[in-house]
Amino acid sequence: MNTSTPGLSYVPNNPQSPWQMYLQQVDRVTPHLGHLARWSETLKRCKRVLAVDIPINKDDGTVAHYEGFRAQHNLSRGPGKGGVRFHPDVSIDEVMALSAWMTVKNAALNLPYGGAKGGVRVDPKLLTRGELERLTRRYTSEIGLIIGPDKDIPAPDVNTNDQIMAWMMDTYSMNVGATATGVVTGKPIALGGSLGRREATGRGVYIAARETARSLGFDIAGSRIVVQGFGNVGGIAAKLFKAAGAKIIGLQDASGSVANEGGIDVDAAFDFVALGGKLTEFKGVTPITEGEFWALKSDIFVPAALENQLTEARAKTISTRLVVEGANGPTTPAADDILHDRNIIVVPDVIANAGGVTVSYFEWVQDFSSFFWTEAEINDRLERIMVEALKAVVAASEKHKVSLRTAAFIIACTRVLAARELRGLYP
Ligand code: NAD
Repeated sequence: MNTSTPGLSYVPNNPQSPWQMYLQQVDRVTPHLGHLARWSETLKRCKRVLAVDIPINKDDGTVAHYEGFRAQHNLSRGPGKGGVRFHPDVSIDEVMALSAWMTVKNAALNLPYGGAKGGVRVDPKLLTRGELERLTRRYTSEIGLIIGPDKDIPAPDVNTNDQIMAWMMDTYSMNVGATATGVVTGKPIALGGSLGRREATGRGVYIAARETARSLGFDIAGSRIVVQGFGNVGGIAAKLFKAAGAKIIGLQDASGSVANEGGIDVDAAFDFVALGGKLTEFKGVTPITEGEFWALKSDIFVPAALENQLTEARAKTISTRLVVEGANGPTTPAADDILHDRNIIVVPDVIANAGGVTVSYFEWVQDFSSFFWTEAEINDRLERIMVEALKAVVAASEKHKVSLRTAAFIIACTRVLAARELRGLYP
């Protein structure tokens, strides 16, 4: 079967596009940037975007072509850092937005990185393991021009995992003639990966939810939680919420939505899905419709699937107190305003899901020094960085009387543009 995807997928000026969403977020922060606002156009452009053709031999003897990208939004504060996504909806526009959100996230957490992101427009479920490996290796080779341990360091994202990172690391190492563990993060432990990395994004979502709930006067224990997306981020976060005494009353993944008022056994459900089961067929849950899923009453709602999920219409009716964004860009700017008016607090993606890149940073540092930390050390440092970043964002939101998202953007964009100004323009 030929699974090639059609050519260049750029939709300029589509108001629903993630890049347009990001541009609107920049417009909201610019009035708060003081004298640095003169550099704000920098934030509205990607420094560099590479589009590549990825031809591979299929197992059936045909040749298939896929479209791949690597965008480097801003490198003022350090090398690029950001994941690689394999998904049929990947577009240049989406990759640009995701790279820009990485710039903001890395600066909000004060990690010494710029922002980057990559992706291949492919449905990996339609490929055999051999085809997936050839696709990964050819993509890595094509973007090899612009990645490297001190240039731009990819990591896992939707539909990519530690095995894909191992193939990327091996391909890059073969091309440069030396083992370069620091070229990607999210690697297997046996290849210089970090303990705690796989769980880090979900753990960060949990920490962000716990701290914000506390500041709103309620505890995770006894809370009702709904999670959209039951993969690495949503799945791990759901397990940690349950371990802390919360009830996960609704879950949704690409196969459908399920509910259980008494609380879903998310540990067993996660194992069931990992072994190839369909969430909707897991025992102890009731399949519900998409409409019923968005109508569930919760204390905390965690979107942890894809962007553009919490739309204007859904923001008007969703019944929750706190939204903690595990996914990147799940809430549209119009929905953000509605949630604000309804007093529903949103912990933005650039803080809430920053646990992954924070432990990726630890992995990169450990690879450079060839000295590895214990899981307890990693989790302690993650906890400290996340809690401090959240406190700073809450303080900025109170000072400027803006949402947590705009506050996070103020902190991050100030850091990025201060670096821009100090470095000056070349030549
Ligand atoms: P994943 O592939 O492990 O899981 C994605 C989940 O979303 C799956 O359960 C899938 O079935 C579900 N899903 C896909 N399409 C859906 C749809 N239309 N409706 C409902 N559910 C759907 O991916 P992940 O790594 O968990 O990433 C999820 C989100 O978190 C993405 O936005 C990603 O950019 C973001 N994120 C991931 C990391 C990380 O470290 N993995 C870090 C930061 C942000």
